[in-house]
Amino acid sequence: MIEDFRSIPKVELHLHLDGSIPLNLLSNYLNRDAKEVATAQDKCQNLADYLTKFDLPIEFLKHKDNLKLAAYELSKDLEQDGVIYAEVRFAPNLLVSNELTLNDTVKTILEGFSLGNVKINLILCMMRHHSFAENYEVIDIASQYLHKGVCAIDLAGDEEHFPTSNFKELFAIAKEKNIPFTIHAGEVNLKDSLENAINFGATRLGHGIQAVNYADLLQDIINKKILLEVCPTSNIQTNVIDTYEHHPIKQLDEKGVLISISTDNRTVSNITLSSEYAKLNKYFNYNIKDFCRFNYNAINSSFLSNEEKQELTDIILEYMKKSIN
Ligand SMILES: [Zn+2]
Repeated sequence: MIEDFRSIPKVELHLHLDGSIPLNLLSNYLNRDAKEVATAQDKCQNLADYLTKFDLPIEFLKHKDNLKLAAYELSKDLEQDGVIYAEVRFAPNLLVSNELTLNDTVKTILEGFSLGNVKINLILCMMRHHSFAENYEVIDIASQYLHKGVCAIDLAGDEEHFPTSNFKELFAIAKEKNIPFTIHAGEVNLKDSLENAINFGATRLGHGIQAVNYADLLQDIINKKILLEVCPTSNIQTNVIDTYEHHPIKQLDEKGVLISISTDNRTVSNITLSSEYAKLNKYFNYNIKDFCRFNYNAINSSFLSNEEKQELTDIILEYMKKSIN
């Protein structure tokens, strides 16, 4: 079954490099099986607990050669998974080391991607626990690389302890500099977080699933055609949703919210996008036609030019013509 889903041309918009380093690279680095240190349990206590799984990957990526290799190997994994376009994110400030300046982190990853066959752009993450100055640096580097391998910025990290409202000024600056953005918001159930992200002008929300609990915000999301980057397995693991069957994806979809599907973290969650499609098929009966629709949504809300969007749309349409009669 997964084999069938692998052939669907996919667009993945929400994917962290540090959570998606092929496991064999981490095992080689540790000189032992890295599975236990780098993959999450089916159910973590909370988001903060889940985030501890990034300690080893971040240490690994602070070395220049590893960073380039990880980017290249991830692009090969994406190709294997049928991904035709991805927006991969990472937090530059977490990788600065004696081997890598902020600028090097972006440059090195882009070099790694360029060795592969998949079209990939970078989203640079500001971190909730970082200072204003550190996050400003991220905006600055994004503006230097905009349309040259970087397509947007994001805000990631512990949503519960570092409220979205703290970042109003930074997103205003990004807007002024014409840097597109997505925001991790509504992963945990905080109305305020979603409200702020929408008011800042985010055209996409990382997760955003908790909007299902607030009719007014839901209407706003629908009216403004804001896309949700939905990552179901991740939501179960971080324990913001109790079971896969209870995930609100179908409710949101049926209400008319624009949905796209991503893995969030391929290695930490031990999944591929194809395996996620298989699960969505099993629990919610979504079929190839639905997945093409979600990918179409993803293309439309990607940070690509209209011309690039059209090229990807043509690939999906061609696939649908061949596979759905
Ligand atoms: Zn994420």
